[in-house]
Amino acid sequence: MARRRFGHAVTRPGRNHGDDPVEIPVARDLEKSPDSLRREQEITFYAREYPLESFALEQSASVEWADNIRNEFSPETAELYAEFQEDMRSEIEWIRASGNLEPTAEPGGEDVSQSIRDRARELGYSEVGFTRFDRRYIYKARQSDVRRGLPNAICVALEQDHPATQSLPSIEAEEAQGATYRRQATLVKDLVAHINGLGYRAQVSGPTWQFGPMIPMFVDAGLGQLGVNGQLLSPHFGSRARLQIIITDARVTYDRPVDYGVPKFCEICQVCFMRCPGRAIQGQRLWYRGVEKAKLIAKRCRPVMTRYSGCGVCMKTCPIQKYGMKPVMEHYIETGDVLGKGTENLEGYELPDKGYFEVGKLPRFDTEFFNMPTGRAEDYLMDELQDKLQAATSDEEEEVAWRAYRMQLEHTLNRQTAVVDMGMDLGVWER
Ligand code: SF4
Ligand code: SF4
Repeated sequence: MARRRFGHAVTRPGRNHGDDPVEIPVARDLEKSPDSLRREQEITFYAREYPLESFALEQSASVEWADNIRNEFSPETAELYAEFQEDMRSEIEWIRASGNLEPTAEPGGEDVSQSIRDRARELGYSEVGFTRFDRRYIYKARQSDVRRGLPNAICVALEQDHPATQSLPSIEAEEAQGATYRRQATLVKDLVAHINGLGYRAQVSGPTWQFGPMIPMFVDAGLGQLGVNGQLLSPHFGSRARLQIIITDARVTYDRPVDYGVPKFCEICQVCFMRCPGRAIQGQRLWYRGVEKAKLIAKRCRPVMTRYSGCGVCMKTCPIQKYGMKPVMEHYIETGDVLGKGTENLEGYELPDKGYFEVGKLPRFDTEFFNMPTGRAEDYLMDELQDKLQAATSDEEEEVAWRAYRMQLEHTLNRQTAVVDMGMDLGVWER
């Protein structure tokens, strides 16, 4: 490939508090207006007519299945998730109730963006941005949990450990993810205290208990763009960014979406698409709920994630995650190539029972591997019951089917309080 023409530069604060700003060059052929990637009317239509729901609820039929498979394939991962869930219970209680904390001072009325940004950076958040809180991205089951009157969103991202992430899929990487969530849960208390101390109210979304998807607001706040792998590619550490949103009534100045060149770069790169063991990633973007995105096929991803410690090959093999956006974009301008593409260092990975997969090689799984209950547990169990009732040849058999159905339903509804996977939203809590 050949050198590319320079298009524009994006200046971002340095990675850590006190670091010099960085300049990311975007090649002319990667430029694309962020406005062209979304259709507001469609987003509104889908939010109104088909409100978003948490994956943990929408796909609750697979929770039990995932537990059993995980226990069989990777008991250490199952143990890690159980420990994580236990540790996070009190943190999640705090996060859920954060909106009830009263301000501890009289509000001054001035713009406090800089004060909040400085405090967040001092605490260790690398990415901080402000935008309107978009209520279209609240899960249906969380609508009543999210306070009214908090119109502004503070988007903050914390970096997950770099070396551990490069070992994906692995227990070590899952531990690093869990450690980042635990740290987020601690740091956000300080940030909320700061906002309360300025005289304003704040309510926290994440980690593990969140209002809804966060990436759209991070994009609005200029903190990155959506990659083909379905993750936010943030400037310093790509998809290794762990996200949180704090909504508030504090007066802040909104940031703007930024063209980092990611959508067009992904069209050229395609590494995650080619390396995904489950063939779950779509190389091309399409319009989905008003956003141009590559839609992940969940039923091809989840069976892999469940068996291989959360998988994450799509994160491990992303050059923007591994090297950072600036070196990747500079390399593209200088050479027209994708940094690291075609190298074992970026693309190679190992699956415990399958061995090492070098560039160009992918694991094979039989059809059985992808057999997984889909949809809501209630619906799945009802379908199962109907099949059993139709097949029953006596009153006793029908009674047995009904009894099994009632027991499984009760068990499943109780399970909806559980963390499904390390990175996933907690299900609906008892009310
Ligand atoms: S987690 Fe694994 S299976 Fe799922 S999309 Fe990423 S690479 Fe593919
Ligand atoms: S691996 Fe390449 S195509 Fe996939 S998200 Fe990262 S930059 Fe985009």
